[in-house]
Amino acid sequence: MKDHYDVIVVGAGPGGSIAAKTAAKEGLDVLMIEKRQEIGDPIRCAEGVGKFHLKQHIEPDPRWICADVKGSCIISPDGTRVEMAEEMSGGEVGYVLERKIFDRELANESALAGAEVMVKTRATDLIIENDTVCGIKLMHLGKIHEVRSKIVIGADGMESKVGRWAGIETAVKPSDMETCAQYLVSNANIDQEFCYFYLGNEIAPAGYVWMFPKGGNKANVGIGILGSKSGEDRPIDLLNDFMEKNMPDAKIIEMVIGGVPVCGTIDRTIANGLMLVGDAARQSDPITGGGIINAMNAGKMAGEIAAKAIRNGDCSTDTLQEYEELWRKTIGKEINNSLIVKETFVNFTDEDLNSLAHSLKDVNFTSMSLLDLLKALFKANKKLLWDLRGIF
Ligand code: FAD
Repeated sequence: MKDHYDVIVVGAGPGGSIAAKTAAKEGLDVLMIEKRQEIGDPIRCAEGVGKFHLKQHIEPDPRWICADVKGSCIISPDGTRVEMAEEMSGGEVGYVLERKIFDRELANESALAGAEVMVKTRATDLIIENDTVCGIKLMHLGKIHEVRSKIVIGADGMESKVGRWAGIETAVKPSDMETCAQYLVSNANIDQEFCYFYLGNEIAPAGYVWMFPKGGNKANVGIGILGSKSGEDRPIDLLNDFMEKNMPDAKIIEMVIGGVPVCGTIDRTIANGLMLVGDAARQSDPITGGGIINAMNAGKMAGEIAAKAIRNGDCSTDTLQEYEELWRKTIGKEINNSLIVKETFVNFTDEDLNSLAHSLKDVNFTSMSLLDLLKALFKANKKLLWDLRGIF
């Protein structure tokens, strides 16, 4: 470790690794630090990603793809099944990953691009001078070091402190948190080419249960419920109920507990000398809770803009504003649309969900145009379209 770099990236998740790789490929001197001793472990993820967006960042590799998904199946509270081909389900889940290997491979790619990677190294504070972030304080093997940089990229995930240290408001109200519990199970006995989503206020208040295939008769079976609607319900108890009723023969071999911010975009993700990416910038999707692709896309934007700023010799918010505008125009727009949909759907009763599923169950999603889908939705529920008018 040197005492000065162009860019320091805090956190080696997908957002951090892509930021580090991009900045290193631009010829910058990059340090990426990760507080855990093993990148990617323990996971806090259902590991579903869209194929198209993933391929913009990394060539798919069977070493970290557990399942190649052909479609999704949504099951309404009365058991009505709506099946969609992968292209039609928004490409949300195309591959189910093995993130322990995937995250490590992304970090490997950033190292191969020239970034220095340090594990078991925790950022403990920022160095701030003249209202500008000039580096970090880090703890490595029991010792505190000060390492300076022109830009710090905070990619420290859901539990992010980097933004807060720079005076950026990143707090998420408990009511805007999706609390999740997940089991990796063997003997899952599900179609390994399908992802399943179970809806219903009894099953998962203002949320859903997912079953994602993991190959070899394994599956990630999890639940996410919204803080504001969950009352006394604990996700783990609801998940156990679901397992008992729907997968009595499955055997639990791993457990994940975690939270996803579903608050929508925050007001600011930059400061002088600092950018936030991924979950640290609250860039996960308010409906699905998915954040891998958004983190990677934001990481790429941040890496490119860091290079531009450093070349121009101006790392103030005047230059970094380009990152703020770019991600809001792309990722931010999708998050805002999802927020409108989420706020509509959380108020749906089980009857509403059933009536929607009934009107969609016989629709052939593989040959359907967007207009056909809108017609089907409109037929099902006129109020729904009115509520969602902001996104059309
Ligand atoms: P992370 O992947 O969280 O990486 C942040 C890294 O920073 C971590 O490795 C952490 O150890 C490190 N770090 C934190 N603080 C410090 C520090 N002070 N110093 C050094 N290192 C630090 N998304 C999807 O797209 N698909 C899904 O199917 C999906 N399922 C999910 C299921 C659950 C139960 C949960 C909780 C989340 C799920 N997500 C899913 C969300 C997804 O996991 C995140 O959006 C994604 O990992 C964000 O990437 P990131 O790089 O921003 O942060």
